[in-house]
Amino acid sequence: MARVINFNPGPATLPVEALERAQRELLELGDTGASVIEHSHRGKAYEAVHNEAISLVRELLGVSNDYDVLLMQGGASAQFAMVPMNLLKQGQSADYIITGSWSKKAFGEAQIVGTARVAATTEKDKKFPRIPKQADLELDPKAAYVHITSNNTIAGTQWQQFPNVGSVPLIADMSSDIMWRPIDISKFGLVYAGAQKNIGPSGITVVIIRKDLVEAGRDDIPKIFRYTTHAAANSLSNTPPTFPIYLLRNVLDVTKQLGGLAAAEKRNRDKAKLVYDAIAARPDFYRSPVEADSRSMMNVVFNLPTPELEAEFVAEGLKAGMMGLKGHRSVGGIRASIYNACPRAWVETLVAFMKDFHKGS
Ligand code: PMP
Repeated sequence: MARVINFNPGPATLPVEALERAQRELLELGDTGASVIEHSHRGKAYEAVHNEAISLVRELLGVSNDYDVLLMQGGASAQFAMVPMNLLKQGQSADYIITGSWSKKAFGEAQIVGTARVAATTEKDKKFPRIPKQADLELDPKAAYVHITSNNTIAGTQWQQFPNVGSVPLIADMSSDIMWRPIDISKFGLVYAGAQKNIGPSGITVVIIRKDLVEAGRDDIPKIFRYTTHAAANSLSNTPPTFPIYLLRNVLDVTKQLGGLAAAEKRNRDKAKLVYDAIAARPDFYRSPVEADSRSMMNVVFNLPTPELEAEFVAEGLKAGMMGLKGHRSVGGIRASIYNACPRAWVETLVAFMKDFHKGS
C-alpha cells in the first residue's frame, strides 16, 4: 500500500487513525453484530455514534446550549439555499460579503429567494486577492443577516478577524476552515461547513445555529428545508447519511486526542509558515497572488513565472508522489491544501521540492 502525499482541496486527506478505525469496525461496530452502515438509524448502536458526533462538535468548538448542532445533507451548497429560505423574510434584505466564487454562489441563491445586497466585494479582474477591512463594509443595520465565507478555498484567502456586524446575525460558510483553530461561536448566528476538508468525508454538512434563529425560521417552505424540522428531530427527521456521520465522529475523536483546536491551530500555522516562507525566499520565481494579511492557512496558492512552468511543477510534483497541487481551474496556478490532517512531513517534502524545482529551471 502506498498512500501518496495528498494536497487535494476536498474531499481531502483524513487522519489515518480515523480510517484505520473504520477499517477495524467496518464489519461489526463494537459487539453489535452489524456494520454501522447496516444498523437502523433508529437503533441504539447508531444513535450512540450520532450523538457522539454532535457532542464532539459541541466540545471541540465550545458550542453552548443556546445553539443547535445539526447534521445535514446536500453539502454547503444546500446551505446557500436553506439559509435565505429560512432566514430571509419578505420585506427584508440580507447582506453578503463577497470574497470568492463560493460567496458569489451563496449570494446568487439568496437572490433567487429574496432581496440580497452586496455589503462589500474584493473582486478585482475576476480574482479575489484579499479580505475586506472593516472600513470597506457597507453594512445595512436592518439586514436579516450578514453572510461571509471564512476561508476562500479557491482564492486562498481567509478572514483573520471576523467582521463586526453589530446586532445583525453573522453567518459564515466555514466549509474549508472549520476547526482549524478555536473560535468564539457566540459571535455567530449560524455557521455551516461541508465536512470534506477538515472534519470528515463528503456527504455530511455541520450546521451550528442559534436557537432563536431556528425558531424564527420561515414556516411557508417545505418541512424538509426548515431548520426547525431538523432541530426538533436531533437531525433524525429522515434517514441521515449514517456512514459519513460515523466517519465524522472518527475524525473529531482524533482531533480531540491530538489536543483539540488550540493544538490544531499551532500545527496549522507552523505548516502554512513553511510554505509561505518558501514562496518568499524565491520572489523572482514564486509569487503569492494574495495580500499578506489575507493569506489562508488552509489553501496556499501561488504562481510561477509562466503557466507552462506551473504545469511542469504539477506534473513533476505528481512524479515525486504529491497529488492535488493544481490550482482551481478558474484561476490556474498552484494550490496546496494543507488542512488539519495534512502532516508536517508532507509540507516539508513540498518545500524541499519547491527549492529543487527552482534550482532546476
Ligand atoms: N463553500 C466553500 C468555501 C467550499 O470550498 C465549497 C466546496 N469546495 C463549497 C462551499 C461547496 O461545497 P459542497 O460541494 O459541499 O456543496
